[in-house]
Amino acid sequence: MSLYPIPNDDEERIEVLDSFALMDTAPEQEYDHIIQMASRIFDVPIVLISLVHRNRQFFKARIGLDVCETGRDVSFCTYAMMDAKVFVIPDASKDERFRSNALVTGYPNIRFYAGAPLISSEGHALGSLCLIDSKPRLTFSDREQRILEDLAAMVLERMQLRRLERESETSRNKFINITSTSPDAIICANSKNQITSWNASAEDIFGYSQEEALGKPLDIIMPDSMRARHGAGLARVASGGPARIIGTSVNLTAKRRDGSEVPIELSLSQWNEAGEPQFGAIIRDITSRLEAVKRLKHAAEYDDLTGLANRSSLKRRIRQACESHEPFALLLLDLDGFKDVNDTLGHSAGDVVLKIVAQRLRESVPDHHMVARLGGDEFVIVISETVDPIKTSELASRLISIIEEPIEFDNEPIHIGASIGISLKSGPEDDSEQMLGNADLALYQAKADGRHLVRIFTPELRQTALKKGAMSSSIRQAWENQEFELYYQPQIKLSDGSLAGAEALIRWNHPQLGVVSPAAFLPVLEASLLAVPVGEWILRTACAQAARWRQISCKDFRIGVNLFAAQFRTRDFAKSVESALADSLLPATALELEITENIILKNEQRIMEPLHYLRSLGIGVAFDDFGTGFASLSLLKDYPVTRLKIDRSFVSGSERNRKDEAIIEAVTRLAAGFELEVIAEGVETVEQAQLMQNYACDEGQGYLYGRPMKASDFERLYLEPATNRVSVGV
Ligand code: C2E
Ligand code: CA
Ligand code: CA
Repeated sequence: MSLYPIPNDDEERIEVLDSFALMDTAPEQEYDHIIQMASRIFDVPIVLISLVHRNRQFFKARIGLDVCETGRDVSFCTYAMMDAKVFVIPDASKDERFRSNALVTGYPNIRFYAGAPLISSEGHALGSLCLIDSKPRLTFSDREQRILEDLAAMVLERMQLRRLERESETSRNKFINITSTSPDAIICANSKNQITSWNASAEDIFGYSQEEALGKPLDIIMPDSMRARHGAGLARVASGGPARIIGTSVNLTAKRRDGSEVPIELSLSQWNEAGEPQFGAIIRDITSRLEAVKRLKHAAEYDDLTGLANRSSLKRRIRQACESHEPFALLLLDLDGFKDVNDTLGHSAGDVVLKIVAQRLRESVPDHHMVARLGGDEFVIVISETVDPIKTSELASRLISIIEEPIEFDNEPIHIGASIGISLKSGPEDDSEQMLGNADLALYQAKADGRHLVRIFTPELRQTALKKGAMSSSIRQAWENQEFELYYQPQIKLSDGSLAGAEALIRWNHPQLGVVSPAAFLPVLEASLLAVPVGEWILRTACAQAARWRQISCKDFRIGVNLFAAQFRTRDFAKSVESALADSLLPATALELEITENIILKNEQRIMEPLHYLRSLGIGVAFDDFGTGFASLSLLKDYPVTRLKIDRSFVSGSERNRKDEAIIEAVTRLAAGFELEVIAEGVETVEQAQLMQNYACDEGQGYLYGRPMKASDFERLYLEPATNRVSVGV
């Protein structure tokens, strides 16, 4: 058991006492001043400010005593601290509790004691302000007690104030530590708008040194436009009102020393120091963040290569225009010959072309109309506020001729063309997708009509397209369901009527319509992505069939295979022909590829190389429908052709006349000159056969000898071992 009373929460009390940091500190005037007053007022020799720690008491201020501390066990204050009221001992020598206390029996021989407890704001008694006399004092009036209490309150007030200062100093030190290393500007200001703290990052961002900034009004970093607002906010907070932006972060503009503006993110805090509102601002320079955002936004809205509006901006613009029911026209522009530039001159040339086309378009179209790149070599121009077909097609034609001006690349001119489809926003029923779809149909028409043209969408285009659309989806099904079949039509040597070979001709075994001829579906098939796989299937099937027929009966049998233009657009066309031959064990000389002027015109240069290569393997090349085109004669010089197929319109056409005969004569002579073989198509009668033979035509093909038929029929009719010669009544 302890010799003296100890409060239950003594450890907590000691912690509070420590927070004042007064133990073992030097005397201070303020406290000395109070005890001097007390000594004079009460006329006592000893006055102490005692602070009671765990097991000792320390005298922060003392008069009339030579020791600055004693043990807690002898401390009178321990008792004074137990009550909020002043603790009085008129004569210690007569008091049971103190009679034998060392301070009573020895120096300083205490007889009278009056102590007022020093109670902290937390409610802990920390010590006392006490009066001591070596003479007993039998009366200590209520008034005297109150005065002593008042003096104790003064002591305590000093202590509390001191503690506050100390705390704000440590937090201030911490604050300075944080601020000096922070990448953000940390700026404090008082309620008079004066800067009280300014860190290194603030120096960097705003260009004022700490010395320059401290004490200056916050206005130095505020753009003029914000000053009034800031002033009002400050006045509101200074008068106790709420600060609107405290606790959130806001994006603002601030001003640098050189007057330039800087975008910042500001978060503001506010606290009170000695009753005055103070402000702390954490400011981040968001220039680079804003730039990144801007870059992202730009990338999201503009095409990288050309700098034009991109697809998504375009769609947004069209949607807006549709929703606000404004009249407008869409020009969908597609470059003609762009793929060739890419294929022959490389992608860097392609990029240059796209950039220059973009630039020319942008320069030729008034600013308020959007020019966008839809992707690839497709561009769209949104002409606002007009649906005038004449004006828009005039603009479109002008754009085409502007694009047709040669583009310089590597000191060489590149020639490029363009086709344009226009759709005009006519009624409320057209949504943005529809508008683009319509322009696309018109563009398709422009291309089909010969390129470098402008076409305006009309509802009829949609009707045709719908039909084609239905056809193309059923063609895909036909392909998947293996509804295609090859028919074979015999080709006969006119000299002796023997079988020379056959032409493979595709048929569609339609589940409802029966056998469908190519005229009904080939245009759609040719334009679809299926042209290549179907073309390859035709080639392989025909080769395999020919190989079989050579084996069973006709050892010189030759097979003619028609090609699609699209097949030449695949890079490995020649390889696919070679592998069809290899897989079927068919010699190259037994295969004849049929090409038309149409294929040549569609592929221009691309066809030459594979064709020459295939020819070099021994594969025959027949020029189909010869005589119907424009350039047939001149093309013969350059293309590795081995046979001309005189078109059936000259042979059995309904309006045959003498002119046709002249053409037949010319063609056969030409063939002789170029050392080419000739076959007549569409031989229907014996007379026609006779005529062709007269013109030194080598072979004939037509209903006279046989219609295109199934392989099984062909085999039965022409290739049975006994009947491999067809006798024709000539
Ligand atoms: P084409 O290459 O000129 O084929 C000859 C066409 O004339 C065939 O029509 C054939 O049936 C027809 N024909 C043959 N003899 C006579 C005759 O004596 N009188 C008349 N009036 N016509 C005759 P088909 O089979 O309808 O083929 C039409 C066109 O379709 C072909 O013309 C060819 O360009 C294309 N085609 C047919 N099959 C294929 C194929 O497998 N692949 C490719 N790429 N095109 C094909
Ligand atoms: Ca043919
Ligand atoms: Ca033909």
